[in-house]
Amino acid sequence: MNLLIIGAPGAGKGTMSEMILDKYHLIHVSTGDMLRAAVKNGTPVGLKAQEYMNRGELVPDEVIHDIIVERLSQDDIEAGFLFDGYPRTLNQAIDLDAILKELGKKIDGVINLNIEDAELIKRITGRRLCPGCGEIYNIYFMPPKVEGKCDKCDAELIQRKDDNLESLEVRLSEYHKNTQPVIEYYEKTGVVRHIDAKQAIEKVFADIDAVLEGLCK
Ligand code: AMP
Repeated sequence: MNLLIIGAPGAGKGTMSEMILDKYHLIHVSTGDMLRAAVKNGTPVGLKAQEYMNRGELVPDEVIHDIIVERLSQDDIEAGFLFDGYPRTLNQAIDLDAILKELGKKIDGVINLNIEDAELIKRITGRRLCPGCGEIYNIYFMPPKVEGKCDKCDAELIQRKDDNLESLEVRLSEYHKNTQPVIEYYEKTGVVRHIDAKQAIEKVFADIDAVLEGLCK
């Protein structure tokens, strides 16, 4: 099963991806994670992407094309994959179709996490991450037991560079301008399922799970 998860920043793509992977054992392909790793390691891709990411803007499609082709050339992908944060532009979606066609693959389902912009501000500006184990917290809704420390591994929590109000506004406008057409593109093939992402985490996952159970049949 090959899936996409789409949603505005803060809609819960990361959390839902983890829960989907846990149950369905797919390969997680997050362009955001791949780009952050490239920036951290100072690779040529990282150097090209860094400035765009800090400003909250989308990284150029050519850069994304290269990292996707490279990732899809690895064997583990045969298990089925979950694309998270990709495709983010109509060009990327059209490009992905061509890449998958070459590989004899297709997208079986698109999970669209729906949520209003107003909800996302606290989610994003309050988000804190554990660099050690990847656990995600929110200082407003899901604070760690000890301020600034991970409950699981005691590491010092960090905030993503682009999780501030200024970048968020750019990211949301990029999302509406560029990613909304991606949803419309996939609507034409009948694979999109809309999920209410404002609900409690367990309920959001239950709704996604029901969709995926249906796809597996
Ligand atoms: P994310 O972790 O998915 O929120 O992505 C963080 C940032 O990485 C975005 O704000 C963009 O700057 C960049 N990025 C991630 N995925 C893509 C993509 N598919 N196309 C363009 N830029 C991306």
